[in-house]
This record gives sequence, structure tokens and C-alpha cells, in this order.
Amino acid sequence: MENPIQVEQSLPGGFDFIRGQSKTVLLVEQGRLSQALLSRLFKSLGFELVLADSIETAMQQLEEADPLLICMNRSTEGFNAIEFAGKVRKTGSNIPLLLLTADQTNQIRTKALKAGITMVLSKKNVPDLVARITEFIQEQVLPNIYSGYVLYVEDSRTQSVTVIKLLKSMSLMVDHVTTAEQAIELFKKNNKYDLVITDVLLKGEKSGLAVISHIRGLTNEKSRTPVLTLTGFDQVARRIELLRAGTNDYIVKPVVREELVVRVSNLISNKQLMDEVIRQKKLLHEMAITDQLTGCHNRHGFAEITVKYLATAKRRREEVSLLMLDLDFFKQVNDTWGHDKGDQVLKEVGQALRESCREGDVVSRMGGEEFVIFLSNCPKQDAITLGQRIRKKIESLRPGDLDVTASIGATTIPAEHTIDIDDALCVADKAVYRAKNRGRNCVSFKACV
Ligand code: GH3
Ligand code: MG
Ligand code: MG
Ligand code: MG
Repeated sequence: MENPIQVEQSLPGGFDFIRGQSKTVLLVEQGRLSQALLSRLFKSLGFELVLADSIETAMQQLEEADPLLICMNRSTEGFNAIEFAGKVRKTGSNIPLLLLTADQTNQIRTKALKAGITMVLSKKNVPDLVARITEFIQEQVLPNIYSGYVLYVEDSRTQSVTVIKLLKSMSLMVDHVTTAEQAIELFKKNNKYDLVITDVLLKGEKSGLAVISHIRGLTNEKSRTPVLTLTGFDQVARRIELLRAGTNDYIVKPVVREELVVRVSNLISNKQLMDEVIRQKKLLHEMAITDQLTGCHNRHGFAEITVKYLATAKRRREEVSLLMLDLDFFKQVNDTWGHDKGDQVLKEVGQALRESCREGDVVSRMGGEEFVIFLSNCPKQDAITLGQRIRKKIESLRPGDLDVTASIGATTIPAEHTIDIDDALCVADKAVYRAKNRGRNCVSFKACV
């Protein structure tokens, strides 16, 4: 049987708030059952609740109660969450806004996120909702209150009491365990730690060195989590051993308060700075492979992703297909209704295509009014069927309130192939050309080999 890990502060058993911090959640919810459920959940997490039932009262509470989080139900009578979100963001507030909805669709989500709502959650599955709200609080709300998360490994009761008190006074959230085994287990489960502080000699079989080795041995981003070691040994050889194992810093016991504060602050701020750099880098990369108008991938994104997918397909001996889609007489749309209208049409078509695909498919706008869909694990007949479905969908979509159709070229890359993606795109392009010649608004298939 698995041993439950004893953690000084466990989640979601109630977050330990710092004195003086607001602990209020503003709830906009009229349904009695949901209200009772959410009240119970937030109270069990240590929050206090204030209620509102209109945009006016909610704005007033936002000012007076200074909540940490606003949780709203989409179908609250006389309350428009999207409008409210717009108002809140206009004040410059970056308070997390959580929208709960019974009928979650992609359209609602997109609209809500655009209005500044932080996250949309479905109310359909209650245990799932509770888990997602707890996760949301951990990721979106607590970081606004706490300056970081520390995993602290220490078996001495007296030592840990002092250190935990000191860490909490620095607005840090602390999970405390007494053995290396527990620390490793907890570290595996969580992504939240900004710092690990470990004693060397611990209860149990392993020492603090095992914690350091485990972290440094990981192949993901967690491997660069800073480690501060507290050691009773003041010998050069032992300190070198710790540094070799990968500790970033050490403090020789007895711990001097000021020293701990300075070393902890340095390690955490460096880690968070690096996190921010990595986040920005990811964001830039994301932007570089995304088409800004439609939110689909662009040509670069398509190339980058499909190279990998094609290699996987080859390994698994799976067929993949391409659908290339070119809007019919699109120049006329621009000429008659203007470029903005043309853009609106492209945007809506892009969204419709994304909604028509499965996970593992790649939808790209290759340029102009031409889209390509890469279909993983998809044989010829399925590609043609999907092509027809998409063709009909666009025909009935009326993007920008206009009648728009598309000509679609399909091709399939066989499981045992030596074709690269550019060759397959050329074939799909020829198939589009054929569809145009056949009178447009149709699907044409051309084999790759
Ligand atoms: P066909 O049925 O043969 O495909 O006719 P078409 O008019 O769609 O084809 P053509 O290639 O002659 O014209 C494509 C037009 O797409 C030209 C340009 O006005 C328009 N276009 C290309 N990129 C954009 C864009 O980013 N925004 C808008 N609004 N229009 C674009
Ligand atoms: Mg010890
Ligand atoms: Mg074209
Ligand atoms: Mg065209």
C-alpha cells in the first residue's frame, strides 16, 4: 500500500493565508445548489465569500471587498459576464476571473477569453470542477499572494519550526516533509516549487544528497529547480561534495536568520527570472508559428509540426492525408466588400476548420485564402469524407454574412513512403487546381504516388 505523505501544509485542505491578506472570493451565482456547492468549496479552501447579483453590485464589491478572485456563472439572470469582464479589465484590474458554464462551447470560450476572462470551466462534472477550481487557485490566485513555493526537507522538529516561520514571514508557501523519500515523491507530483531546501542527514534510508540527485537527474525543466542545502558539517570536503551533487548553495547550521533570508531570496528571484525568460521565449515561438489573423498555424508552424508528425506516422506505419483548401472567387469578396470583410471571412473560416479537426491534426493558413489541414492516421476514404464535410460546412457557414465556398484538394501519403511534406503539398495543390477546373465548390483527390 502507498504511504500517505505527511505534508505540513497540504492542498486542498485549506490554504494558509498570510495575515493581513484579503481572503475574499466574489461569487456571482443565483442557482441555490451551485451556490451552496461553491460556497462550501471556497470556504474549505480558507476563503471568505461575498455575493453579487448584478454588474453594479459586483463592481461595488470589487472596490469594497477587494477580492482575490471573481467566480461567476454564465447564466445568471440580469448579469452579463462578458460585459462585466470588459468593465473590470477597463479599470486596469488583473484579478483572476473564473467563468462557470453549463453549456460550454468553443464560441463561448473564445468570446470569454477575448473579454478578459481568465478561465472558462464546465459545470457538467462536479468532482472535475472542484479539482479544476483548486488547480486554478493554486496556479492563478496564490502566486498573487505568495512570492514562491518552497519544498522543505528537515527531520528536526525544532529546526523546522524556526525555518518555516522565517520562510512564511517572507510570504513563501512551504510544504514540509521529513524524509528524502517523501520529498522525492512530492517533487515528482508537483510543478510548483521555486526552491527546495534540504537538510543532509534525514530520517529514513536516503539523505539530502538523494533529493539533489533526483532533481538534477530529471530531463525536464524541473531539473533546474534551485536547491539550498542546510548542513551540520563545516568541512571543505563535505561542502564540495554537496556542490558536486548539484546544490546551488548551502548554509552551515546553526542557521543564521539573515543569511537564510538573503540566500533564499537570491535563489528564488533567479529562478523566477529564468522562468519568465523561458515563458517569453515560448510566447515568441508561439507567435512565430501562429497566423495572427485566424489563430491557425502559419507556414512555419506547419513545416515545424508536420515534419515530426510525419516521422511518427512512418514509425507507426500509419497513413496521413492532406486537405488543401482554397476559397472560391475570394478576390471578388475583397473587391466588392473591402479588405476588412475579406479578413473577417478568413477568420471565421479558420475557426470553422479548427473546430472540424481532431487533436493531432494540424490546421494552417499557408497564405492568402489558402488553408492546409494535415490529418494524422487518416486513409484516403476518411480524408475524402472529411473534405466533403468541411466543404459543406463552409457552404452553410456564411462567414461575414456572405455566401462563400471552397475548392478542396486531397491527397494521402502511404504508410511506406519516401515522400516529404513539400512533395505531398504539390500533389494537393494539383488536386485543388483540378477542383477549380471542375467548377469549384468540390473535393478532388489525387494520389501521392
Ligand atoms: P479562385 O476561385 O480561382 O481561387 O479565385 P480567387 O479570387 O479566390 O483567387 P485569386 O488567387 O485570384 O485571389 C486571391 C485573393 O485573396 C487575392 C487577394 O485579394 C485575397 N487575399 C489574399 N490574402 C488576403 C488577406 O490576408 N486578407 C484579405 N482580405 N484578402 C486576401
Ligand atoms: Mg537532520
Ligand atoms: Mg489562392
Ligand atoms: Mg481562391
